[in-house]
Amino acid sequence: MRIRICLASSNAHKIEEFRDMARDAGLDCEIFGAGGLPGFEPPEEDGATFAENAMIKARAARAIAPRDCHIMADDSGLCVDALGGAPGIMSARYAGEKGAGADEANNRKLLKELENVPDAARSARFVCSIALICPDGREEIFGGEIEGVINRGARGKRGFGYDPLFFLPERGMTTAELAPAEKNSISHRGKAFSKAAEFIKSQQ
Ligand code: IMP
Repeated sequence: MRIRICLASSNAHKIEEFRDMARDAGLDCEIFGAGGLPGFEPPEEDGATFAENAMIKARAARAIAPRDCHIMADDSGLCVDALGGAPGIMSARYAGEKGAGADEANNRKLLKELENVPDAARSARFVCSIALICPDGREEIFGGEIEGVINRGARGKRGFGYDPLFFLPERGMTTAELAPAEKNSISHRGKAFSKAAEFIKSQQ
């Protein structure tokens, strides 16, 4: 049966990305954004972890979405070992507020913080948690990670956020140099999504 997934987001790019990942995972579903539903208010993301913030977003969407839908929400960020896991859940607003120019400001701040960190100690990972609420109210969390290192300068024009600095040694390129489908197949979000998709299929 074709399920309906309400994604706790109003970001058209994110909704498109989830549709692509669903197709790649062989999950027959319709995905729509909670942002288009009357009464949707993005909640305050005041959790202490990616998983908590993802579930906060999912519960906010569940409150206004049709009851026969699955609800999905994601939260993600960059964790740098030399910075004790920062920027972590603060990734979107590392250098200040979200909005225009935030990605560039965040990347500048990250390069500055790591200025004196040697190449061998620049390991980092993107982390993603996806929260799922089933029509019967059951709540699940799925996680995914991708390991890399933080380069000393930007490379690549694709992706968003920290992608131009996030280098994959085994591929010899940053995630900003990967085609979108290639990134989805190895990324933190792609891995978390495919676990969620397998879970949904196992329940059908
Ligand atoms: P959100 O989960 O979409 O709110 O992402 C939080 C922040 O983490 C983004 O604004 C980016 O700064 C960073 N981030 C998460 N995933 C990625 C990614 O795939 N590439 C680059 N940056 C990312």
